[in-house]
Amino acid sequence: MSKNQTKNNKPNSSMKFTVILTLLVIAALTFLVIYSNNKPDTDQDIAFEHEVSLEGQPILGRNPEAPVTIIEFGDFKCPACKNWGETIFPQLQKDFIEPGDVKFSFVNVLFHGEESAIASTAAEAIYKQNPEQYWDFHEMLYASQPEAENHDEPSVTVEKMVELASSVPSINVEQFQEDLQSDTIKEAVMKDTQLVEDLDIQFTPSIMVNNVMLEDPFDYEKIKSLIEEALKENENGK
Ligand code: CA
Repeated sequence: MSKNQTKNNKPNSSMKFTVILTLLVIAALTFLVIYSNNKPDTDQDIAFEHEVSLEGQPILGRNPEAPVTIIEFGDFKCPACKNWGETIFPQLQKDFIEPGDVKFSFVNVLFHGEESAIASTAAEAIYKQNPEQYWDFHEMLYASQPEAENHDEPSVTVEKMVELASSVPSINVEQFQEDLQSDTIKEAVMKDTQLVEDLDIQFTPSIMVNNVMLEDPFDYEKIKSLIEEALKENENGK
């Protein structure tokens, strides 16, 4: 008898378990569907609660009140950053920065050790002395990267930075050399590193459109659609 009871009970408890499991799966799926419908992006883009403060950061764009901000978290020694600067950036500049819809900024990431640190320090020193020359120097740093096949070769030295700075109009090279050693410039680089840590940047370039960090910085269509969405929202909010 007891054997029969056990036999009879088994299917019952296993059926109960299956029902509960099914209900749990349905609940989990429902939650996932609702949750993902509430999010504007269903891919791996990360939306932060707040936009990053651009205080003390270089800004490109003729409209300081531009409704959309794009920040590149980049490393002057990173070949993908150079590539982004040569392929995606020119489109962005033409379509949105020049017309005044977007302002663009750059935050230093030091993933390539001492050379990244030297290049970032040099860029901050140029920015301090003459913010208008910053973007030309920025371009020069990327342009001075060795060809892809030799990209691990050492290419950034203090001497090289002084040489590049000497070719920038209106830059006082002695002042530049002093600034490379100054606490103010070191603090500017540290401020960027703190941001990189706070935002948990994992790769370069990382591109942020307003408060959204893109999963794929090379997806120009995505960048474009986020900008257009933000512009529309801004227009409606007026
Ligand atoms: Ca900076």
